[in-house]
Amino acid sequence: MTSPFDQLASSILDGKPATEDDALAVLRSHDDELLDVVAAAFRLRREHFGRTVKVNYLVNLKSGLCPENCNYCSQALGSTADILKYKWLDTDEALAQASAGLKGGATRVCMVSSGRGPTHKDVERVADMVGTIKAEHPEVEICACLGLLKDGQAERLREAGVDAYNHNINTAESHHDQIVQTHTYADRVDTVTKAKGAGLSPCSGLIAGLGETDEQLVEALFALKELDSDSIPINFLMPFDGTPYENVWDLTPLRCVKILAMARFVCPDKEIRIAGGREMHLRSLQGLALQVANSIFLGDYLTSEGQAAEADLELIRDHGFTVLGAPDAPVEVLDAGSGVETRDPSKRRRGAGTAIAPNA
Ligand code: SF4
Repeated sequence: MTSPFDQLASSILDGKPATEDDALAVLRSHDDELLDVVAAAFRLRREHFGRTVKVNYLVNLKSGLCPENCNYCSQALGSTADILKYKWLDTDEALAQASAGLKGGATRVCMVSSGRGPTHKDVERVADMVGTIKAEHPEVEICACLGLLKDGQAERLREAGVDAYNHNINTAESHHDQIVQTHTYADRVDTVTKAKGAGLSPCSGLIAGLGETDEQLVEALFALKELDSDSIPINFLMPFDGTPYENVWDLTPLRCVKILAMARFVCPDKEIRIAGGREMHLRSLQGLALQVANSIFLGDYLTSEGQAAEADLELIRDHGFTVLGAPDAPVEVLDAGSGVETRDPSKRRRGAGTAIAPNA
């Protein structure tokens, strides 16, 4: 007997889009049904993305010191989170950081700056960085994420070689004013629209765990579908100490997988990216989540550290996926003692039969 989620996947593959009720049913599915949900969502993932994973790398060009009050953000006005704060990287440093990500296996570099939005001078600064990075790495895809755009800035970025622009709607319109007051939901949508109008690939996503209801998560996803965002980063709130959300832990690994699956059902042919909070919230379910999502960030995030880039690549390889755009990698046989993978079982030297405490 096929599951209702499998029937939903068949219906979507036949051209009948998921409804809001379908999305809610996925989000509220019983934990016993998790593998049915994942298997059905995987059919959609496989149809549109095969077994590939897009690997993205973040470069935080300017960190902290933001005048906006997004209350989930460690870089916001009023945040006392103990994060790195610095003004603009210079072009050489931006190139060095981007090159490290590309060497580590990424194919897209996301160039991000804190702040309400760029000045025209900032746009020229980023244009210069993009020209330098593309001269050295012509194959790289560059996504800029510089905040709210003014008229003409998206066109200038496109002309400079930027491929995509990220600006997340973050949450449902009905919840937006609870999480930030210094700009509006309409401001955010306007920037995504400007980017799209200039020929930049729109990247816009959400943050789960901000106290939103199930219905508001669904509302946000359908808004992203309406915006026709090519890439949809799904962030899971990282509750930094020193922000209004410190100690807010509304998410479980199972719920995070269901949120990603819901995104796949609603936007089956879009890049669903597991973004910030992946390691913290999915924990041992990261591999299961990759059966549903088709994109991740490699290594570190803007103000927090991710797992080692090699662990990310190992996660992809172990599940039989390949990095989109990367040459077929030979099967690696790493040396024993490399710390990542070894063919030699680690011999027990503790617990029973020894004077050393057991590993439990
Ligand atoms: S999300 Fe962006 S605009 Fe909002 S506080 Fe953080 S850096 Fe500033």
